[in-house]
Parts: sequence; C-alpha cells; structure tokens
Amino acid sequence: MIEIVINSNYCKGCSICIDFCPRDVLQPSKEINAKGYTLPEVVNIEACTQCQLCEIVCPDLAIAVTPKNK
Ligand code: SF4
Ligand code: SF4
Repeated sequence: MIEIVINSNYCKGCSICIDFCPRDVLQPSKEINAKGYTLPEVVNIEACTQCQLCEIVCPDLAIAVTPKNK
C-alpha cells in the first residue's frame, strides 16, 4: 500500500504535482494552509504507480511517496 504525504507547512499550492502526475492521483483540495495556499489532495490512490514524479517535481519538498507501514 502506498501513502502520499503532503506537508501543509511547506506546500505553496503551485499544483505542479497535480499537473505532472500521469495517473491523475492528485487534485486541488478545499483545504487552505496557514499561508493561504490551496493544498493538493489524494483522490485516486489505487492508480498510483509510486513513480515518485510528484515528489521529484515539487519545488518545495512538500510531498513524499512512501510504502505504508515502513
Ligand atoms: S507517485 Fe506518480 S502516480 Fe503516484 S501520485 Fe505521484 S506522480 Fe502520481
Ligand atoms: S508541487 Fe509541492 S508545493 Fe506545489 S502543490 Fe504540489 S505539494 Fe504543494
């Protein structure tokens, strides 16, 4: 099982992770962080291939893809 963790303190809501995900796993959420940025949310974890592209392209190191229970 894969877990995608978004650090709400680091995220600036740029949506790059959403745009680059080849499987449409992420989308903008209704959640706003303390700085006023819209956070992404995971909507389709079953489709995630753990390619880590979202993690690589995030300019703020705000998203991490990890196997669960590790
Ligand atoms: S690891 Fe790959 S497939 Fe999974 S959410 Fe990130 S970009 Fe999308
Ligand atoms: S790429 Fe990073 S900073 Fe931009 S929305 Fe995604 S998690 Fe937030």
